[in-house]
Amino acid sequence: MVTERNPPWTRDELLVALDYYLRNPDDYFSPFGEGVRSLTAKIGQIAKTLGLSGSETLRNANGVSMKLLNFRSHDPNHDTKGLSRGNKLEEIVWIEYANNPAELSKVVGTILEVTEAATNKNALFLSQDDVTEAREGKMLSRMHRYRERNATIVKRKKASYFKQHGHLCCEACGFDFQATYGERGRGFIECHHVKPVSELFVGEATRLSDLVLLCANCHRMVHASRPWLTFEDLRTVFQKGAVS
Ligand SMILES: [Zn+2]
Ligand SMILES: [Zn+2]
Repeated sequence: MVTERNPPWTRDELLVALDYYLRNPDDYFSPFGEGVRSLTAKIGQIAKTLGLSGSETLRNANGVSMKLLNFRSHDPNHDTKGLSRGNKLEEIVWIEYANNPAELSKVVGTILEVTEAATNKNALFLSQDDVTEAREGKMLSRMHRYRERNATIVKRKKASYFKQHGHLCCEACGFDFQATYGERGRGFIECHHVKPVSELFVGEATRLSDLVLLCANCHRMVHASRPWLTFEDLRTVFQKGAVS
C-alpha cells in the first residue's frame, strides 16, 4: 500500500482531525467535501511544519477522510460495523478529548495559530523537540519552550528573584548552582513556564509570575513524560523522594 510509506499521524494532526470530527457529527467525511478539503489543507500545513515527509499521498483528502472514519469506530454513538480500528495514538487522543470538546477546540485553535506563526515568522517556533511532547501536541510544546527561553523575560525573572532572595536557586529542590559549582554556576538556572500549555496563546506576553526557577534536573523531570508535571506536583514528588 502506498500509504505505508507515509509517517504515522502525530498527536497534533490527530487533535485537529478529532476536533473537526466532534464538531461535524453529521458529515459523511467525503474526501470531496468542502469540510474535509479545508481540514486536509490545515493538516498538511502542520505536517510540513513538523518536518514530516512521505509520498505524494501524505495527508491527502483520502487519508484525512479515512482518519475521520477511524474516529467513528471509537465513537459509541455510531455503529462501527465494517470499520477497522486505527492506531493506538488515535485511541489515546479519543479517550483524552472526546468528552471534552471545548478544551480540545481551544487547544486546536492554538495549534493552528502556532503553525501559522511558525510558517510566517519561522524564527519564533524553531524546532525545540528535546522534551517529551505535551498532551496537547508538539506545537504547544514548542510554544512552552519558546516562552521559557525568551532571553529578555528570563533575565528579568532572575534579576527579580535575586533582588528578593539574594541568590538564585531551584524553587522545587533548592539547588543553588553557585553554591555547588562556584563562580562557574553564578547566574545559572533555568526558567519553567507554569501556565498550562492549553492556556497559552500566540502573541500573549509572558509575565514574571508565569515563570519559576528550576535546576536542570527538576526541569527535565517536569517534561520527562506525559502528562507534564505541574510545579506543585514536582514539589510533592521531590519531597516524597527525599524522605523515602
Ligand atoms: Zn531542582
Ligand atoms: Zn518547562
